[in-house]
Amino acid sequence: MDVDAGHGAALGRALPTQAPAAKDLPLGKRLRSFLSFPGNDEDPVAKLTKTHRGIHPSADAGVLRRSYAIAENMHRGQMRKSGDPYITHPLAVAQICAELGMDTTTLVAALLHDTVEDTSYTLEALHSDFGPEVTHLVDGVTKFDKAFYGKAAEAETIRKMIVAAGKDVRVLVIKLADRLHNMRTLDARSPASRARIATATLDVLVPLCDRLGIQALKRDLDDVVLYHLEPDSYARIDDHVQNRPGWQDYLAQVSSKARSALRRSRVTAEVTARPRHYYSIWKDTVAGGHAVPFDLPRIAVIVDGPATDCYAALGAIHGQWRPVAGRFKDFIASPKNNLYRSLHTTVTGPDGRLVEVLIRTEQMHRYSEFGVATTYRYPKTAETTDPSGADQLSWLKRVLDWQQDTDAAQFLASLRCDLAEGQITVFAHGQAFELPSASTPVDLAYELSPDTGDQCLAATINGRLAPLSSPLRDGDVVEIFAETDEHVAVEPNAPRGPRKEWLGFVKSSQAQMQINRYFDEKNEPGMSIADKVKLGRATIGLTLRKHDRGLASEVPLRRLAEELGYPDLETMLVAVCERNLEPDMVVEQLIALVDHPD
Ligand code: MN
Repeated sequence: MDVDAGHGAALGRALPTQAPAAKDLPLGKRLRSFLSFPGNDEDPVAKLTKTHRGIHPSADAGVLRRSYAIAENMHRGQMRKSGDPYITHPLAVAQICAELGMDTTTLVAALLHDTVEDTSYTLEALHSDFGPEVTHLVDGVTKFDKAFYGKAAEAETIRKMIVAAGKDVRVLVIKLADRLHNMRTLDARSPASRARIATATLDVLVPLCDRLGIQALKRDLDDVVLYHLEPDSYARIDDHVQNRPGWQDYLAQVSSKARSALRRSRVTAEVTARPRHYYSIWKDTVAGGHAVPFDLPRIAVIVDGPATDCYAALGAIHGQWRPVAGRFKDFIASPKNNLYRSLHTTVTGPDGRLVEVLIRTEQMHRYSEFGVATTYRYPKTAETTDPSGADQLSWLKRVLDWQQDTDAAQFLASLRCDLAEGQITVFAHGQAFELPSASTPVDLAYELSPDTGDQCLAATINGRLAPLSSPLRDGDVVEIFAETDEHVAVEPNAPRGPRKEWLGFVKSSQAQMQINRYFDEKNEPGMSIADKVKLGRATIGLTLRKHDRGLASEVPLRRLAEELGYPDLETMLVAVCERNLEPDMVVEQLIALVDHPD
């Protein structure tokens, strides 16, 4: 594929084009625009079909035509704020999905994604016309009725979407494409609603896109958010990128020298210039306090071979140009939490200018561009799952664990918090744990188990004793000491249990929830049944997480309660909360029940 497709190219422009409105055209042209249908305009789905067939040659174009016809019919008479017929929106959303390489089902659902919400078309009709898969996808992106749910509608809608995505991640891909197109056409809205929508996008959807690893889509979302929130910065960066004499020549020179160096080392690789997108330039400019946009020339080396060839390529590049100390990062050995894998280095290139170099295999490159969409884009590839064996969706499954324990507003708050924080990986007891960045040993202790959390006394970080409030860093090796450890001598009068002040520094939703549970139980022995049910459920969710599992439905829990002889699920959850029933045992049986239903 074309590695050069750096800024915005993968998905078309990041920005809305200001197509002249029909009324601004001279009369002759205006008439022509009404009367003539030159070329592809005759068939509104021609472009979509072409893009889709370009990636999936045997795809069925008939169903695209059929779904377009229904969507067009249902939306007929509706206009967008820009004055365009409404159907242009679902068509554009489907086009974005097609460019990502999504399958036909996704495109059909994208064409129909607003019908149930905005027209008289019902889920039942959709189901009988297009089947359960498309129905699930459309339902997943359909908003809850504001009139009915009131203020909670937004949070409920996001929760619904996440739960639906747990069953089928294509829901989120459609939602992200939907938002990208809405953001591109935001110019027709008032400045206040532009700012509100852009901020909400930055808040939840951009980080979701990042977690799903779809960089091709995230770049475009990033840039369009910047355009709406920081129009002046956007213009300044645009000006900088468009007007820098010698930049292209320099990149060509660097690429050609890199190719020679790789050839001498017998590494087969493609080298291309890889421009940064505007948002990333803006971030580095602001972060570094630079007065002018800060953007180093960057090249990508895509090796044709196994991962080990990346290191051979790195050797060749470092042999050619001196690396800048501290700038080398190995995301192959330690992938980012969205499974992004690549080597990053900065070298002192020709004329003493710094040059950034990305090195990865073709397969890593696909994953870094398309993330969860990769399996749809390349369905015939021998390895459709990531070779590292990890799963871009494990994060999503974990989110699903705690979504059941909270009301929608709390869920959204936790989701925002979880998304806002970067994540770090720390090691304890020979295992890796992912935590929100700046998590503390207390967060880790609660991650190990609620009891370890309640009873944790001290911690070492990389072998040194450290306060429980110390922020952990990526790669830290941590040991937690709890009261229950035999070799820990507890002073007889030392206070027991968690401290209230821990709430001031813990970062994870788990730790907060468990510490609150402890004090609720202690201070209010007459805790309500509803709270006990909630906590029982939370405990099971946490225990499931240890097995990297989540629970998308209550059915197995209810069956287990029945099998264990409880009158109902709630009674079993209370037993778990009161520790009359071991959560580990419950989860073991639950997993057995789900994996071997007979
Ligand atoms: Mn829409």
